[in-house]
Amino acid sequence: MSKTLTEEIKNEVERRRTFAIISHPDAGKTTLTEKLLLFGGAIREAGTVKARKASKHATSDWMAIEKQRGISVTSSVMQFDYLGHRVNILDTPGHQDFSEDTYRTLTAADSAVMLIDVAKGVEAQTIKLFQVCRKRGIPIFTFINKLDREGRSPFELMEELEQVLGIRSVPMNWPIGMGRDLCGVYDRMNNQVELFQGNDHSTIEVRKVEDYNDPIIREMAGEFLHDQLTGELELLDVAGDPFDFEKVSRGELTPVFFGSAVNNFGVQTFLENFLKLAPSPAPRNSTEGRVEPTEEKFTGYIFKIQANMNPAHRDRIAFLRICSGRFERGMAVKHVRVGKEIKLSQPQQFLAQDRDIVESAYPGDIIGLFDPGIFRIGDSLSQGGEVIFDELPTFSPEIFAKVTVKNALKHKQYQKGIDQLTEEGTIQVFHSTSGFDETILGVVGQLQFEVFEYRMKGEYGVDIQLHRMPYQFARWIVDEKIDPSKFRINSTLVQDKKGNYVALFENEYAMRTAMDKNPTSKFLETAP
Ligand code: GDP
Repeated sequence: MSKTLTEEIKNEVERRRTFAIISHPDAGKTTLTEKLLLFGGAIREAGTVKARKASKHATSDWMAIEKQRGISVTSSVMQFDYLGHRVNILDTPGHQDFSEDTYRTLTAADSAVMLIDVAKGVEAQTIKLFQVCRKRGIPIFTFINKLDREGRSPFELMEELEQVLGIRSVPMNWPIGMGRDLCGVYDRMNNQVELFQGNDHSTIEVRKVEDYNDPIIREMAGEFLHDQLTGELELLDVAGDPFDFEKVSRGELTPVFFGSAVNNFGVQTFLENFLKLAPSPAPRNSTEGRVEPTEEKFTGYIFKIQANMNPAHRDRIAFLRICSGRFERGMAVKHVRVGKEIKLSQPQQFLAQDRDIVESAYPGDIIGLFDPGIFRIGDSLSQGGEVIFDELPTFSPEIFAKVTVKNALKHKQYQKGIDQLTEEGTIQVFHSTSGFDETILGVVGQLQFEVFEYRMKGEYGVDIQLHRMPYQFARWIVDEKIDPSKFRINSTLVQDKKGNYVALFENEYAMRTAMDKNPTSKFLETAP
């Protein structure tokens, strides 16, 4: 093929940055996303993303649940250009719309931005999302938000990152004062200060300085804050980790930025530094070995499928991450699992604003494919080849419910619905080993139950009832002989659809006890 296509793909790959923002609800993800989109010119006014989150377009019939709840799923991918970069932000739904999809989306990101509330520190959902990123070994950048509020000291937060997440950190900038006294940040990498002025902290002035001892800082911040700053930075210079690009790239060291999203403090410098340091789309492993993004052959895989909740329109959108080559609208590619050629004629990109039709796209980009029901999560598409990308990881369910059908005559449809929805990755299904054939569903987020219930009714005409169970942990048990009587106290033994034994536990104590009692068994978080 022509050299120009290779060159073109190479250029496009190099300038791309595809990342997800991981955080606990309320840390300020929507606010930060909005500021980033404003810098990229993808939206014109602040409030746009927020308004979407709050209202929801009445014209769209995507996801009735989305409408009822006012949660956002259509803004799944946001794209903008900034300083020559093409930026893709993947949305990782939090709040009540947290689901296995949130985790799966992280497999499509090349890096992550971990957003932390200065007062709350590392919170539950952040830990879970962090661990998924950690396993993939992608670089993680930290933004400590809400610096205009009273919060914990930067040193305390760094220690928490290490204690709770097991990751070392290197501050890229450092606050000058905090909360009410906040007057700016010192940029350690570029030797400059960003000063925030006025009571509402609205004016931002950037000044080059010699180093942190520069009298300009003293003049702007006053003696007290400057002494504090120099003291802290001297300590950091001596005792802190030096910046190490290799360690950052392997996800072993997280660069930390301090700022305030709502006041736009430190957001621009964060974005610029992040774009410089974050990786462009990485190669992916497949049955054919490593697939380099710069290869000319188009390849990609489906990481998420969004069902339409309107029973009159059963079509769905399958989200595909491009791994190599150039995508062109109307191109024919092989759907490897089913062994058929398909034409990608209705691809859509999901901007913050409206859904646009994409004409061409490159590795790192996400496109939404119209799905009449032919795709499954993890499916690979490839141009003239048999490339199959590594299976997507599964995640340990944490919420469980027993399911029953209201009308026994509907049993056949019920079974079909369960089979298909499990295969699609909507829920995980288990069967009890107690003799009664009970069906137990496992999910990571409550939303998955609601989607399941909704789709069982809408697509299969089956009314179901869910009975919440008290379990919180699932562990796949691997052993030659398994004794069910050892899993009775605050726990139960079930089987997944492949017949693997899985123990469900009500609490950590019950799980530890079972581990102690069964020293020969392996307890795995996901299916072996
Ligand atoms: P999300 O749930 O993570 O998307 O959080 P939001 O972006 O909706 O923010 C949660 C709340 O925190 C909102 O009331 C924001 O206005 C507020 N917030 C966001 N950033 C800042 C900040 O830098 N300082 C302060 N004081 N509040 C902020």
